[in-house]
Amino acid sequence: MSALSQNPPALLTESDVAHWDHDTDVIVVGFGSAGASAALGARESGARVLMLERASGPGGTSGIAGGHFYLGGGTPVQEACGFEDSAAEMYKYLEALTPDPDPEKLRLYCEGSVAHFHWLEAQGVPFDRSYYPGKAAMQPGRDCLIWSGNEKVWPFREIAKPAPRGHKVAFDGPDGGGALAMQHLARAVENAGVECVFDARAANLVADTNGRVIGLRYTRDGQTKHARAGSAVVLAAGGYIMNEQMFEQELAWMPRDLIKHGTAGDDGAGLLLGISAGGAPMGLHQAFLTSPVYPPESMIKGIMVNARGERFVAEDSYHGRSAGMLTEQPDGIAYLVLDSATFGYPPYEFFEQALVDGYETVEAMESGLGLPHGSLVKTLADYNAAAARGEDPGFHKYADWLQALDQPPYAAFDLSVGRAKFAGFSLGGLSTSADAEVRRGDGSAVPGLYAAGACAWNIAQDTRGYSSGTCLGEATFFGRRAGRHAGSKPQA
Ligand SMILES: Cc1cc2nc3c(=O)[nH]c(=O)nc-3n(C[C@H](O)[C@H](O)[C@H](O)COP(=O)(O)OP(=O)(O)OC[C@H]3O[C@@H](n4cnc5c(N)ncnc54)[C@H](O)[C@@H]3O)c2cc1C
Repeated sequence: MSALSQNPPALLTESDVAHWDHDTDVIVVGFGSAGASAALGARESGARVLMLERASGPGGTSGIAGGHFYLGGGTPVQEACGFEDSAAEMYKYLEALTPDPDPEKLRLYCEGSVAHFHWLEAQGVPFDRSYYPGKAAMQPGRDCLIWSGNEKVWPFREIAKPAPRGHKVAFDGPDGGGALAMQHLARAVENAGVECVFDARAANLVADTNGRVIGLRYTRDGQTKHARAGSAVVLAAGGYIMNEQMFEQELAWMPRDLIKHGTAGDDGAGLLLGISAGGAPMGLHQAFLTSPVYPPESMIKGIMVNARGERFVAEDSYHGRSAGMLTEQPDGIAYLVLDSATFGYPPYEFFEQALVDGYETVEAMESGLGLPHGSLVKTLADYNAAAARGEDPGFHKYADWLQALDQPPYAAFDLSVGRAKFAGFSLGGLSTSADAEVRRGDGSAVPGLYAAGACAWNIAQDTRGYSSGTCLGEATFFGRRAGRHAGSKPQA
């Protein structure tokens, strides 16, 4: 654990509180998708809820998300689009791709996925009954279902029967699905009678002499206020990618010129508040990293090579997986090699994967890229010979993307760390139970404290195993569980 995470804000006692400005059942810290779902869950349990949000309105990072929710097991969209799926196959897939899987949470998430889809729709979050067949980081239009992970990537396609599970909110464009989802969730929160205070920044938790969390201190307009929670406090305050110290100490493996994906609220406040009450942080070095090179899909038929001229990943992997593997290559150097039949330009200008050059021969490309003599020639010869047979013995790239790269001229794009740009956000968070209670290092629950979303450790755990939609999926699923459980607790 870093010095920073060992140095959380002070945990206050009742004697530090001269006057309670609010007295409620459940306090939710943070009005993103996890907080909204927690507030709704607590209202479903009949609890009074106070929502505190440091920004001037709802949204958080959820409000700038693309809008994928990772759901399966036979959702109405999967059924309408003719895809068979089951909770058991979804479980096998997520378990295989999660470094530290919690069987109970995974089971609940997979078995509850269809019901959760219906719950999201009941809150007004819209999903079309349509499928986007292309390979893209985000659907360009409002089509719903997409392959948003590594389902067809080896060995996962042999471990679990593949099914597309990325459900995009019905928004007409590549970005904006998260904002639309948040508009509907925020309206549902308002309609549910939740008291919301904006520009209110949670600063310290307050615990009784038994260590039970009974409220918090927040600041607003330069004033200090205290709110008492008869049942519980739910931390739903986002991640820590914007916390400079945590970025330096915990996420030192990430490119230093990273485009940090998030809002100012992702400063680690939720995590640190949880630690102050005894909560255990998990996976603080884990993060999502990306630098997608597709669409066009033809780019997936190219190969990625490192400074040794060797491949290092199945190129049809989800872009977060490829990016994670790329950072582990010598000096972070990698190129995407294409021939004239597969050539295209990576679509996102801000990732700056520059065209190095075009080359008439593989030998010229090898020396132009400064790769060891004979390395790229051998890699491509082996790849082409196997691809012509419809095979990829080294990396098992899916048959759809296997094509010999033998049509000169050739081209290479520079994907290297320090030259191309990468984007990412943190994935570590507080250890929590299946009901989202914050846990100590010994596994016991911190009474009166819950956490969900980007400040908790649940389904989305690392970039190699990431599937788009698991963050919003778990934030809303475990957020609602947190609220329901917290709201049904008897008053302290
Ligand atoms: C560009 C982008 C695209 C993404 N696309 C997807 C996607 O399509 N699918 C997916 O699953 N994931 C996606 N993600 C990740 C996903 O958006 C986040 O993991 C998720 O939104 C986290 O939700 P949350 O409710 O935990 O946090 P947030 O939505 O960030 O909400 C936390 C809230 O807490 C508030 N807060 C922070 N500190 C305090 C404090 N001390 N007191 C009071 N309030 C506080 C913040 O202001 C914020 O409003 C994307 C992320 C980015 C940046």
